[in-house]
Order: sequence, then C-alpha cells, then structure tokens
Amino acid sequence: MHSDEIRKKYLKFFKENGHEIIQSASIIPENDPSVLFTTAGMHPLVPYLMGENHPQGKRLANYQKCIRTGDIESVGDQWHLTFFEMLGNWSLGDYFKKEAIEMSYDFLTNKKWLGIDKNKISVSVFAGDKDAPRDNESYETWKGLGVSEEKIYFFPKKCNWWGLNNGPCGPDSEMFIELEQKECLPLGKELEINCNPGCSCGKFVEIWNNVFMQYNKTEQGLYLPLTQKNVDTGMGLDRVAAILQGKKSAFESDLLKPIYDKVIELSNEDLIEKNTRSARIITDHIRAATMILGDKKGISPSNVDQGYVLRRLIRRSIRHARLLGIDESFCVQVSESVIKRFEKIYPELKENSTRILNELDEEEKKFKEVLGKGMNLLQKEVCMLKGDKTFPVQTAFDLYQSYGFPIEMTEEILVEKGLQIDLKEFQKRIFDHQELSRKGAEQKFKGGLADSGLETTKLHTATHLLAQALREIVNKEIQQKGSNITSERLRFDFNSEKIDAEKLKQVEDWVNTAIQKKLKVKMEIMSVDEAKNQGAQGVFDAKYGEKVKVYTVFDEATNKIYSKEICGGPHVENLSELGKFKILKEESVAAGIRRIKAVLEQQ
Ligand code: ATP
Ligand code: MG
Repeated sequence: MHSDEIRKKYLKFFKENGHEIIQSASIIPENDPSVLFTTAGMHPLVPYLMGENHPQGKRLANYQKCIRTGDIESVGDQWHLTFFEMLGNWSLGDYFKKEAIEMSYDFLTNKKWLGIDKNKISVSVFAGDKDAPRDNESYETWKGLGVSEEKIYFFPKKCNWWGLNNGPCGPDSEMFIELEQKECLPLGKELEINCNPGCSCGKFVEIWNNVFMQYNKTEQGLYLPLTQKNVDTGMGLDRVAAILQGKKSAFESDLLKPIYDKVIELSNEDLIEKNTRSARIITDHIRAATMILGDKKGISPSNVDQGYVLRRLIRRSIRHARLLGIDESFCVQVSESVIKRFEKIYPELKENSTRILNELDEEEKKFKEVLGKGMNLLQKEVCMLKGDKTFPVQTAFDLYQSYGFPIEMTEEILVEKGLQIDLKEFQKRIFDHQELSRKGAEQKFKGGLADSGLETTKLHTATHLLAQALREIVNKEIQQKGSNITSERLRFDFNSEKIDAEKLKQVEDWVNTAIQKKLKVKMEIMSVDEAKNQGAQGVFDAKYGEKVKVYTVFDEATNKIYSKEICGGPHVENLSELGKFKILKEESVAAGIRRIKAVLEQQ
C-alpha cells in the first residue's frame, strides 16, 4: 500500500468516525517560544488539550510534519528518523479509552483499511504504580477485541506514560508490529527468549501510541482525576508504510527509497555495503534539512536554535558522505530528489526550491572550506609526530575549537594513518569546556513541550510588555515575528528599522514603569472577533479557533490598559513578580527584522 493511500485512508476513516480534518501546522512551532520544532501532531493542539475550545469540535484528525532532534543519534537504525510524518486523531473531552482503542484496532486490522494480520500486533498497557493504578480499562478493551493475553504487555511509567512536570498527564497504550526477523538486532545473536516490545532491537516496531490524559498532576505531586479527559494519538507514517510494503526498514518505503537510491547512486560502489548506516543518515538528514529550509519561516543554517540544528544536519551528512566516497557536491542532488518526492503533499517545497537548494549548496561549500583548512593543519601535525603513534589531544581540541573540525573526522584520518588519540581525554576537555552551556543545549535537542516554569512565565509576560513598549515608543505598526524564551532570557523578533540607544532606553523604562506600578494581569476567553474589536494584538489566524485566550495587563485603580494580547499563556498575575527588566542587545536578524534580547534581574 502506497503511503499516499495510507494517509488518505487514515483521514477518511476518522472522518467517517465523526472527526474533522484539521490543517497540518508548520514544523517551526508558533507561539511556543520554548521549543525549536514541532515534535508531534499534538504539539500545535496543546492549548485545546489544556481546555481551550477548538473551533472544529471535539474530534479532530490530521497528518503533521515532525522533527525530533532528540532521535538524531538513533538515525541509521531501521526505524528512527529526525523528520517523519505523524498521523493523529484527538478527542477533546469526547470519546475515551474504549472507543479510541477500538478505532485504532479497526483501522489497523480491518481489510477495508490497512488489513494488518492480527497475529502480528502486540500492545502495551500501563502497569500501575504508587501514583496511578494499572490501566485495566485499556487491558480489558484489548482483550475484548480478541488480542490474546501474551500479546498484551504491562510496562511502567518510563514507557507508558505521558506528561509534563505538572498539568494534564496519563497512561498510554502503544501498538507494535512484530517482524519476522530471527535475530535480536543489532546484537546479532539469536533472538532472546524474552524479546518483547520493550526490547529496542527492532523486532518489535512501535507504530502507534494512544495517550489518555486523565489526571492532573498538581505542584505538590498529586494525581487528581481530570474533568475533561482527552485522547491524543500518533501513528508514524514512515514506519507503517515500510511495514505494509513488507520492508525491513523505513528507508525502503516509498517515502524514502527514491532519496536513498539517489545517495547510493552517488556513492562509491565498494564502500556502500559497510556504510549503510551513513547512507541512511544522509537520506534522513537531507530530507529533514530540506523540510526545514522549505518551511515558510525561512530558517537558514546558523549557530543558534533551528539554524544550528539545520547546520548540524547538513554537516553531519557531509561527514558521512566522505565515508561513502562521495567527493563532489551532493546536497543539492539529494535535496532535489526530496523535493520531487514530496512536492505534491507539501507544495511549499516546490515554491521555495530555489532557496532550499541555494542554502544547501552554500552550506556545503562553507563546510568543505572548514574541512580543507583543518585537513591541512592535521597533516602538518601528523608529520611533526615523527614516529610517535599517539596524536596530541590538545591539537585535536584546537582543530575542533577554532575550525569547527569534527573530532570524528580527526579520528578517521588518524585511523587511516595507523595513529591513535585518547578520545576519552578529548571528550573530557569538551565536557569541561562546555559544562556551563551544556544543559541548555541538551534541552534544545530534546525538544518537548513548552516549559511553564516560573522563570519562563515571567519572561513571557515581559515579552508582552516589551512588544507594547515598542509600539508605544518606536512604531505602532510593530508586530511579533518570532519569540523564544529560555529560563534565562527572552528573545523577541519584530519588524522595524534599527532602534537607537536612546529609544531603547525609553522602551526599557516603559516596561520598568509598568512593573513598578504593580499592574495586574487578567485572562479572558472570547471569540477572535471580540478580541479584535477590543484591539488585542496577536495573530488573527483561523487556526486560533473561534475562542481564544486574551491576556490583559491593566491598572486596577484607573482601569487603564497597558497591553492586550491573544496568547496561550501562561502569565504571572501581577507584574510585581517580574523584577527589573533589562535589554541586553538589539540587532538585525534579516532584512527589516530586528531582534531584542532581554533579561529580568532580581531586585
Ligand atoms: P520510539 O520508542 O520508537 O522512539 P516513541 O515512543 O518516541 O517511539 P511516540 O512519541 O509515541 O514514539 O510517537 C508516536 C509515533 O510516532 C510512534 O508510535 C512512531 O510510529 C512514530 N515515531 C516516533 N518517533 C519516531 C522517529 N524518530 N522516526 C519515525 N517515527 C517515529
Ligand atoms: Mg522516541
């Protein structure tokens, strides 16, 4: 079954079951300042899962482009990709476990739909612990559908639970397909007797996850039943397509095969067999890079945020291309095969193809220059060793630090020359060097949902004030073009000319005056039209739905309004919580777009 047919059938099935098909969102999240990419179909739906009314109702379904940088190290195995498509269906306080599971099973096994052999399906259910009981309802539902007991596995929270630090959470139930492989790969030995869906060997492929949000985790760590119970499901299209097509890896499905074939075509025949993993990495990474570059947000390779991930994907591909003996430029050719394969489903790829290919080409050239320089230096250092077989760690570190020359490449070249290097010592140096920034970076690669910690909440409120101050002092046409908040600082992009120091000071003062007045912040739910009539700022997009949250900063004594924005929140209740607002930097990010970085200092 072709992936187009699976996508179509999925939407048709859920439409027949009363679901509205909603638009798929950009892979760069909107109004979620704390994550770099959309990691699941539920991501753009968070406000509605938190209780906001969705304009299209309580039963929704769609397909969604996803990026999971957290899986980057796994790419190269059979089933993990950094970019993949997710098919999802949601119940917002409508049906729950029984119906959700029944629909999933019907779609998977019914001949009219996917027609997967029932014997190949295993499922997992939450085993229960001190916080919440075993998920008997899911267990009974699976049994009632005829799934035998040996195929239902109980797993702990680590595997079968979804939730953030606090807020809505609950058990999930996953579906797996058992492949006919005889070995417990990649261990290469005979299949372990107890190999089960919890084993990461690839014999059991997770294809679909149904999350049941039924608890609210309080700040005190209590799990209280939710009044609005939601279902959030996600099925990986790339995995399902490969399995239905009888393939042993996602790279052989109709979605990835044409791209993989292109990589193979460019490779040196003698090197392919022992470097399959590299070919897979290039296939996946160039597809992900193409999707990021093709997104309407117009990301370019850089050293920060999405741009950094993009750079990392491209550079990693270039490194692996060497292992396959690909000497010439290849990014453009591989990307062209991606565009050709996906332009029908994602027309933005065709529309932005010139930009995509130019950016890839430029980044490839840039990185090759870095490599050329690094290589020369490395050769010189090797000559100076004079028979010593150990390469100095400090030199490798300098190469990495000053030229961005990857350690993997240093290692490769040294191996070719019969030399060695103390990698542990190298890693230790990197670790010492990066210790401070490490946590932040890891967080970014992991992705995940908006962190609603107190510091980010404060900075989020400060962002609204900053936007308003800019409109009051610089230009009333200023609009948010991007926002990103970590627990340390806010970053706000907006349309404007350069702002001089004096004006910046006034903006800062405006915000601090508002803070000193201890203004209140209130939240109201209203229709988009009403919000517009009241002069609320924010994106008036159909996606927002009929009802939106509006946050207003106002003076209780005079009722004067300081700022009014459509926003998912959360925000502080009183500006007195904020401390002192300080602008660190104002700079250009693109033509006509400026960026301000600012912090809140404790007083
Ligand atoms: P895994 O344990 O295999 O990494 P997961 O538990 O992270 O999967 P979920 O977060 O439940 O997966 O995502 C829902 C579905 O999306 C999965 O059942 C799978 O089909 C698909 N999926 C998740 N991660 C990937 C990935 N890196 N590449 C391809 N498909 C994926
Ligand atoms: Mg995963």
